[in-house]
Amino acid sequence: MSLLFPVLVDGPGELVALRFGARSLTYGELAAAAGAVAARVEDADRVAVWATPELETAVAVVGTLLAGRAAVPLNPRSGEKELAHILTDSAPTAVLAAPGDRLPSALAGLPRIDVDVRAVGTVPADRTDEGDPALVVYTSGTTGPPKGAVIPRRALAATLDALADAWQWTGDDVLVHGLPLFHVHGLVLGILGPLRRGGSVRHLGRFDTEGVARELNDGATMVFGVPTMYHRIAEALPADPGLAKALGRARLLVSGSAALPVHDHERIAAATGQRVVERYGMTETLMLCSSRWTPPDPRPSVRADGEARAGTVGVPLPGVELRLVEEDGTAIAGYDGETVGEIQVRGPNLFTEYLNRPDATAAAFTADGWFRTGDMAVREADGHVRIVGRKATDLIKSGGYKIGAGEIENALLEHPGVREAAVTGEPDADLGERVVAWIVPADPQSPPSAEELADHVAGRLAPHKRPRVVHHLDALPRNDMGKIMKRSLGA
Ligand code: ATP
Ligand code: MG
Repeated sequence: MSLLFPVLVDGPGELVALRFGARSLTYGELAAAAGAVAARVEDADRVAVWATPELETAVAVVGTLLAGRAAVPLNPRSGEKELAHILTDSAPTAVLAAPGDRLPSALAGLPRIDVDVRAVGTVPADRTDEGDPALVVYTSGTTGPPKGAVIPRRALAATLDALADAWQWTGDDVLVHGLPLFHVHGLVLGILGPLRRGGSVRHLGRFDTEGVARELNDGATMVFGVPTMYHRIAEALPADPGLAKALGRARLLVSGSAALPVHDHERIAAATGQRVVERYGMTETLMLCSSRWTPPDPRPSVRADGEARAGTVGVPLPGVELRLVEEDGTAIAGYDGETVGEIQVRGPNLFTEYLNRPDATAAAFTADGWFRTGDMAVREADGHVRIVGRKATDLIKSGGYKIGAGEIENALLEHPGVREAAVTGEPDADLGERVVAWIVPADPQSPPSAEELADHVAGRLAPHKRPRVVHHLDALPRNDMGKIMKRSLGA
């Protein structure tokens, strides 16, 4: 297989590839430093990477990939128990870290390799096969203990090239990055993506709206973020015309990892003229859909208008086959915008297996080779996929209806008294399950009443979707990617 990063070998070596705060590396310097890492890991099978949001993490992962080995990014904020689980499960032979990093005792038994970003090595010849593992990435643990998804080199190339097609993503793009580097979003899309294209990354260390505005004013062209970041942007915009102007300059604002609330999408569009492009993916499948691109499919039913539409994740990316399947296993044929089915997918972008979990791997695929995402969706007449939620936590079976939590959350967020909202189901003697809303009030001194919220939802959606119970919280339980942990809300 050809190199994942051709630009490291024959690109313009003086172009800045990565900038983290005050430190940066040109493509020439990155090739040298990653080449030095490659020489140190060539005998390893898998290596762990202490994935701080720093230059060393990017160099460590690229070096490991150049050596044809697999990298296991570790979340530096994981608890000892989670870390111990990941280390036992993935059994790396060494850990790569920045020279100053203090590693927790769970890593004490592992040989440590310090990453020197100024080292000078050479890029080794590529002897890999496209099926060779490139990364073992642990899922976010939103619905259960994290599982190690083994991601082959083929999948990285396929997903990044599909996004390049969909977004006209080129080496001229400069990405503003504020995400952690131990999940697919921040690592694969945010670091490996620009490097495969030959563009630049500017990592903010920690996301803040000032940093985004500064980089966009200084020539950056795109922003990748999670919905909590766009929520912060939406909240900041009314008082910050400079931010609106800077965002207006961007070529592409992309959101993913969880659903972008319609309310935030619309507030950003109104203030900046930019429609945030939503993309949908998973650790196991990398990227599946994006809300902006025109598929080369002549059927009128899959005509995408190239416009990012709030509340949808768009259409399948090039190379991705997607179907919606009803509970009894039948694929939904028409695009009626109403019939809810599980998203199942096939394509070169898929993972190979869950590490050490042949049972979970087998259960995740249908007999004819489709991957069951566990996400439920409808398809609108023009082919746009609208996710209604996860099968496990977001589908409420109430009074004979199947209700998706997402649309109720979107409706609640339109109420001026609601800052954040999550919806779950709980057992109900009459209805089977009843709709429960968990809200963070905009003003904790005068939260909207349960009755007012029920009326508000019933006025926007069908009456059976109104919440029967409303709880108030100071904050919703969220993980590192800002995803709502509905398990802690009893879902
Ligand atoms: P775990 O599998 O460990 O429970 P997780 O599913 O959150 O955690 P990831 O692989 O990081 O782990 O996340 C993939 C999931 O994120 C998808 O299955 C989907 O539910 C959700 N997701 C990602 N992008 C979007 C989006 N644009 N809209 C709605 N949901 C999204
Ligand atoms: Mg998952």
